[in-house]
Amino acid sequence: MPVLLTGGRVVTMDPERRIQDADVLVRDGKIEAVGRTLKDTEGGRADGTTVIDCEGLIVLPGLVQAHIHLCQTLFRGLADDLALEDWLAKRIWPLEAAHTEESVYWSAMLGAAELLLGGTTAILDMETVRHTGAAFEALESIGLRATSGKCLMDSGDNPPALREPTDRALAESADLCAKWHGAADGRLRYCFAPRFAPSCTGPLLRAVSDLAAKAGAVIHTHAAETPVELAAASRRSPRCARRVAAWAWERTARPATTGSTPSARCASPR
Ligand SMILES: [Zn+2]
Repeated sequence: MPVLLTGGRVVTMDPERRIQDADVLVRDGKIEAVGRTLKDTEGGRADGTTVIDCEGLIVLPGLVQAHIHLCQTLFRGLADDLALEDWLAKRIWPLEAAHTEESVYWSAMLGAAELLLGGTTAILDMETVRHTGAAFEALESIGLRATSGKCLMDSGDNPPALREPTDRALAESADLCAKWHGAADGRLRYCFAPRFAPSCTGPLLRAVSDLAAKAGAVIHTHAAETPVELAAASRRSPRCARRVAAWAWERTARPATTGSTPSARCASPR
């Protein structure tokens, strides 16, 4: 059924980045026309057209959430005011380890519903170690455009409840990628998601690079979030840690002091 949005201020995001007072006609899920007098045209008057008065409102494209953990939706308020390392080790990792397939599904569903109600239509998500397929099922159902991936944690430093053998972590990632990358007519995509350098072995990181390149998928990770993380990464590979920090800082810190890229989160330039 066609939908006509009338009288709003439209942020077109066209090549000229025009912002104009106009009507927007949507048909079959796609924008068919943007113009000042669509409500007076045949399209605007067509039987069955739903007309929504947007006078005084801004009509803009969906927002993009460039880094989120839908698996942590249910944890809000349970682990505030802690340094990242304590936040993870004392609260978040035990909570993630307690997830069931059902709780991952509803955590993703709730988070996705909140995002859609707030105007976000596309996300880059990192799930936990287990039950990532349940999150994809929720995302498939609710209609959000999403890139998501199973969190990878194979190093000996990880809590036993989340640590996985390297081969098993990679095999499950590849299987999930085969099933979900490009699913829902391309609306869903897979990302390979090593949690961060200290949680992963070198062989896993190298294999992830190969798997992602082969599948045409992105890698989604955290980089240089805190000095403690950077020091841990430096002990393993000083040159690599410096390169990652510089790379992340270049891509996230210039426009603002914190931020996200399509593939990594960086909260500290140090
Ligand atoms: Zn994160």
